[in-house]
Amino acid sequence: MIGIFGGTFDPIHNGHLRVALDVTEALNLQALHFVPLNGAVHRARPQAAAAERLAMVQAAVGDEPRFVADDRELRRGGDSYTLDTLRDLRNQFGQDTPLCLLLGEDAFAGLPTWHAPEQVMELAHLVVMQRPGCSLDPAPPLDRWIARRRSDDPAQLRDAPGGRMLPLPVTQLAISATDIRHRVATGRSARYLTPDPVLAHIHRHDLYRNLGD
Ligand code: ATP
Repeated sequence: MIGIFGGTFDPIHNGHLRVALDVTEALNLQALHFVPLNGAVHRARPQAAAAERLAMVQAAVGDEPRFVADDRELRRGGDSYTLDTLRDLRNQFGQDTPLCLLLGEDAFAGLPTWHAPEQVMELAHLVVMQRPGCSLDPAPPLDRWIARRRSDDPAQLRDAPGGRMLPLPVTQLAISATDIRHRVATGRSARYLTPDPVLAHIHRHDLYRNLGD
């Protein structure tokens, strides 16, 4: 099984890395791909250039053998659609390999607004990362989609290449990229919020010196 974790990663931080490890262990993934998005379809333009965000992901995942820095959306260019990325991964790993798309609950709630959400759900399993102790309370049409696809046993995801949805409690660290950028711009330390090699890259390349540029 292959995991896919997409994001702006502007920059990647320990909140991302910790939940990625939680999911990798819970599902016994053979690899987890961090996919920095190129153009943001739904959100503001990233502050750091694509090459910098990729370099920071590479710096962050260097010592975890199951983590992969995956630049396919950056190579593809233009707006990043998850559907294209999953098709690409499906071609690479074959029709039978289960693909697991990691989503925070916020991202999952926005799924109905994505391009071709039902095709996305067929191509991959959705792993919805939750705060421990919280239960999903989705609005239509998500509630219908979940009713058809929900599984509570990670082992069941191995039986199909995609199409299921698994809620999974993960460690919550109150870290955000916005806060890290803000700290760097105002001369405060972002140590212990993101790995040291990421911080070294930020300082070496003078990233995030200005708020919101
Ligand atoms: P920003 O502050 O710039 O909005 P971010 O920290 O939310 O960025 P993204 O790259 O946008 O980082 O996040 C990618 C995905 O990681 C999103 O689905 C988001 O829900 C999830 N995520 C972000 N921060 C955390 C965290 N601390 N714990 C768990 N998941 C997180």
